[in-house]
Amino acid sequence: MARNLFPCVIGGEKIFSPDGRTFRDINPADTGEVVAEFPQLSREDAAKAIDAAREAQVKWASTPAPERGRILVKAAQILEDEADELARVLTREEGKTLAESRAEVARAVSIFRFYGVMGYRLRGEFTPSAEPNTHLFTLREPLGVVSIITPWNFPIAIPSWKIAPALISGNAVVFKPASYTPLIGYRIVDALHRAGLPPGVLNFVTGPGSTVGAELINSPKVDAISFTGSLEVGEEIKRAAGGRNIRIQLELGGKNPAVILDDADMDRAVEMVVRGAFGLTGQACTATSRAIVLENVAEEFERKLVERVKRIKVGNGLAEGVEMGPVVGEKEMNKILDYIRVGIDEGAKLVLGGKRLMGPEHSKGYFLEPTIFTDVTPDMRIAQEEIFGPVLAVMRAHSFDEAVELANKIEYGLSASIFTRSLPRAFEFINRVQAGVVKVNKPTTGLEPHVPFGGFKKSSYGMVKEQGEAALDFYTKIKTVYLGY
Ligand code: NAD
Repeated sequence: MARNLFPCVIGGEKIFSPDGRTFRDINPADTGEVVAEFPQLSREDAAKAIDAAREAQVKWASTPAPERGRILVKAAQILEDEADELARVLTREEGKTLAESRAEVARAVSIFRFYGVMGYRLRGEFTPSAEPNTHLFTLREPLGVVSIITPWNFPIAIPSWKIAPALISGNAVVFKPASYTPLIGYRIVDALHRAGLPPGVLNFVTGPGSTVGAELINSPKVDAISFTGSLEVGEEIKRAAGGRNIRIQLELGGKNPAVILDDADMDRAVEMVVRGAFGLTGQACTATSRAIVLENVAEEFERKLVERVKRIKVGNGLAEGVEMGPVVGEKEMNKILDYIRVGIDEGAKLVLGGKRLMGPEHSKGYFLEPTIFTDVTPDMRIAQEEIFGPVLAVMRAHSFDEAVELANKIEYGLSASIFTRSLPRAFEFINRVQAGVVKVNKPTTGLEPHVPFGGFKKSSYGMVKEQGEAALDFYTKIKTVYLGY
């Protein structure tokens, strides 16, 4: 079989592992298909990428920001021109449905356009001085070299929403994608180079987190780290780099609630909860993993929910009519199945799903049944821990206050929704819920690229939001100038 081997990119050069070691990028819907192979670089290779970034950064920082932006906008156009093919690549390596992949590629295009245009708006502030004959203003400066480490679940959107603001701000980047999804990451890097990005400004390294990732975190030549991934690895990064006085941004897990009040449009609530819980196979940091419903409408909600979820067609994301693809890998599938056993053992009621799907359409991939537990209580592990799969825990509350209390009774605080027709209730929820993103009558998933994104509590670390103009606060430092004349 011909090998579909792709390179890393260091200093603009295509690099293969010096000792020839590679790893395989497998289609989770059909594990017989090797989508691509990528180099398994060493820690030393990652160090070379950091050096290449250091070398290229100074010139890049002195390139006028609108010119940097022109390259980003051109890359957006390349990605848009190739969107259909990119969506197929994304579905083949990550598993999500083609519609979900198309939406994610479109988002990456918007992100590069947005930050490209920000090249004209990298503003400081001009403030009246208290002194006579003085101009008082601030300038934004880049940080230097930024390590960008990303997960597999949004493998084009997340790297884009980190790389684009990093580059427009004048930083150089070393980017490590997750090993399940290197190909779509490579395509971002390729598009930027074809758009005219100078060599070394963006370096692409693949390999394990424990070696390549470790260098990106521990190297003293790195000025900032932006990481999205699990709480465990996030904690490790905090321990390793937290004392170095560099910028660190960690976007971690979620255990997001959807609260359904008794005045909600029940059909809409069901549809939005289903989208939030089972869209993207539940593998979204913003996925709805807890539905908290008022007791007096709980039966109706649960009945309609089960009826709707039974109709979800699970299969290869490339196939017509499929609403839910596989989970990304065997390890992740087994972890989800373990959580389902935990839920049963804890006494939650399994009302739908719970098993791996086999049979002709499914036996070659990691397909799970959409799973619903009812009678879930807040102390259960399935109500507290991130499962990151198509499993929804339904909990009941006796009042609005209790529903808000349950929503907040977790360590995470990424996104939260409420379904209600009452404006006062909606606002009270907006004010009281502990989450970085709040939705009213909308699913917990789904973000627009030009507004800030980030969580509260254990979901985020670093105080500075991603996306929108807010992201520039992470990728730049502010210099205050007092100019007397
Ligand atoms: P992960 O933490 O296992 O891996 C994330 C990245 O870190 C990968 O590139 C991996 O190779 C790398 N890595 C692993 N160990 C490392 C180490 N010791 N040092 C440096 N790098 C290392 O997460 P995942 O399984 O890829 O993604 C799923 C997780 O991501 C979930 O917890 C999900 O909630 C979270 N997530 C959060 C957001 C958000 O914005 N808050 C968005 C998407 C996903």
